[in-house]
Amino acid sequence: MDDVVIIGSGPAGLTAAIYACRANLSTTVVAGSAWGGQLMLTTEVENFPGFPDPILGPDLMENMRRQAEKFGAKIVYEDATKVDFSARPFKVFAGGEELEARSVIIATGASSKWLGLESEERLRGRGVSSCAACDGMFFRGKKVAVVGGGDTALEEALTLAKIASQVTVVHRRDKLRASKVLQERALGNGKIGFAWNAVVVEILGKEKVEGIRIKDVQTGQESTIYCDGVFVAIGHQPNTELFKGQVELDPMGYVVTHEGSRTSVEGVFAAGDVQDHKYRQAVTAAASGCKAALDAEKWLQVA
Ligand code: NAP
Repeated sequence: MDDVVIIGSGPAGLTAAIYACRANLSTTVVAGSAWGGQLMLTTEVENFPGFPDPILGPDLMENMRRQAEKFGAKIVYEDATKVDFSARPFKVFAGGEELEARSVIIATGASSKWLGLESEERLRGRGVSSCAACDGMFFRGKKVAVVGGGDTALEEALTLAKIASQVTVVHRRDKLRASKVLQERALGNGKIGFAWNAVVVEILGKEKVEGIRIKDVQTGQESTIYCDGVFVAIGHQPNTELFKGQVELDPMGYVVTHEGSRTSVEGVFAAGDVQDHKYRQAVTAAASGCKAALDAEKWLQVA
């Protein structure tokens, strides 16, 4: 039995592992078959303190993983398929095995949201993507559209502008949600254009993306933008399917925490994007992973 089983291996999960191991707690990280979280899908990270020069997202995660392993974290590269928090020791099922834990830290993060169009589903991987860092290279010299007006959308647009011939950002309002610095960069980039007050009603193409049909939300008028790729960057939803009925979730599906990282089940803690829909930064996720490990350590002393 482990003192702590951490589910998830993004900045929250791996930081929790570093702190738990250094507190001399036996620690297993159920990292998932695709470990590392959203930073694995990012290019340059410029705002993680301690890195005055940009570091690639996957490199930052590799450093965190090595650091956790250096202090003794066991890492299981399987997806957690089921949990049972109804009695102690808690049980976490992964890769056909049953892990027993005196305490659990949930750090499963969040995933990209999709528009929910039939054509989007059908053309996913055929020009529809949610990751410019992963798929941008397929659009060298081609036209692409990015949907959304937040930081992710503008980061995607800026990444794509280095590769594609033209990038159109489709945003449902006439004001961007993204941070000022990204707005300035995107608005000042000659390759990036904007379709304001517009929503995508259909992604066009049979075998691959050929364009998008957009609707002006004020006039209702529809028009077509011809492009070869569509990057959907409209936010995220928490990865909490596994925890329904096990811990309290809020109406949006995020794990509810109180007094730091405590969940509705004593001995089960949560950290990172799975319980935070406001800040959602690598550095805030890492900080909350640290807090969860400290909370678990304290709780285990009296449990
Ligand atoms: P976000 O801030 O929630 O922005 C989502 C964007 O998509 C908004 O502009 C929203 O429009 C639009 N949208 C949402 N649902 C839509 C729909 N169904 N159809 C069309 N448009 C839709 O999400 P995010 O950009 O992924 O960022 C998430 C968090 O990560 C933020 O806290 C952000 O600061 C952070 N982040 C930071 C960095 C960085 O610091 N470099 C990079 C990436 C992400 P409205 O504006 O009208 O709501």
